Amino acid sequence: MTKIAIIGAGMAGLTAAQLLKDHAAVTIFEKSSSVSGRMATRRADPYSFDHGAQFFSAKTTEFKNFIAPMIATGVLKPWNARFVEIENADIVQSRNWADSYPHFVGDPGMNAVGKFLSKDLNVQVKSRVHSIEKSGNQWSLVGENYRNLGNFDWILLAIPAVQAAEILPSSLQLQEEVSSIKMEGCFSVMLGFTEPLPIEFDAALVRGNDISWISVNNSKPGREGPFSMLVHSTNSWADANSHMDRGQALDHLCSQVRRAIGHDVGNAKHKAIHQWLYANTKKQGNATHFIDQSKNIGVCGDWVIQGRIEAAFTSGFKLAQNVLITL
Ligand SMILES: Cc1cc2nc3c(=O)[nH]c(=O)nc-3n(C[C@H](O)[C@H](O)[C@H](O)COP(=O)(O)OP(=O)(O)OC[C@H]3O[C@@H](n4cnc5c(N)ncnc54)[C@H](O)[C@@H]3O)c2cc1C
Repeated sequence: MTKIAIIGAGMAGLTAAQLLKDHAAVTIFEKSSSVSGRMATRRADPYSFDHGAQFFSAKTTEFKNFIAPMIATGVLKPWNARFVEIENADIVQSRNWADSYPHFVGDPGMNAVGKFLSKDLNVQVKSRVHSIEKSGNQWSLVGENYRNLGNFDWILLAIPAVQAAEILPSSLQLQEEVSSIKMEGCFSVMLGFTEPLPIEFDAALVRGNDISWISVNNSKPGREGPFSMLVHSTNSWADANSHMDRGQALDHLCSQVRRAIGHDVGNAKHKAIHQWLYANTKKQGNATHFIDQSKNIGVCGDWVIQGRIEAAFTSGFKLAQNVLITL
């Protein structure tokens, strides 16, 4: 049976693995201790925070079909948030997501999606791939401390562009294409309170500020903890301040929340910050993935299309379809 290695257990890698698993021996290598990638959830008892992706929508039939089992089993639920748009300190728009298309979230956390998709897959966690080498007709994967992670007929990279470019041999044409893609950073601020703040929204898009997003994490279905707030910086502020001391960045972003909502959040009981170096990608051209069929190697990820969960799905799906026809 053809042996396929997939690097990365986010939406793109897990999608590709789901399509290929009945046709090849698939192994996923994931550097973190858990799956799901940027569909991430962090617990800080009694609080929990989706500190990466907040929600997603489903437009294409392929994606709707793919997520149907997760909706049927309650892993995905619609988040009927009271949504507002804040311009500086003013609410300029408001609507209820219950009145529009579903804004899906994992239950009880965004990482429930990756957990569901990886249930029947061979995922090696805590397995960072450092380099890959072609040996004969196969690819060998090298992990930490030069550990041999095995030989494979195909290798699919489903990791952020910068990380993929570091691993791809420079002799491959697609290395140059992948290297040219720019990803933007983001800081996530996690705030836990003993009492709810008197605000009248669950999710807010913020403009005219160094923050772009505020959500009340415990307003999502299945979150039982006390009042918790998740804040995202703008991508441009994160990139311009990527080396700032974490405590200073946290204080600044809290002051920006106060500017937007008129409440001091600096006194939250729980305060933490996480930096995403590769969070988002602007909308790209028409490509969905990269593949070199003469070398049995492919690359996928949201960043080929744009920084969205559905884009990550589409990229992994299209790459896997192209691998399938060669098997
Ligand atoms: C702050 C933030 C907010 C977001 N908000 C939204 C939103 O509201 N809606 C939406 O649709 N999208 C959102 N996104 C984007 C969404 O999270 C991504 O589009 C999607 O999760 C990307 O999936 P992926 O599989 O392409 O990559 P990832 O999720 O990044 O998965 C890549 C995986 O590869 C692993 N990895 C990396 N290098 C190696 C290596 N060398 N060896 C082994 N493993 C490796 C990583 O640990 C990771 O698990 C957000 C992202 C962030 C960061």
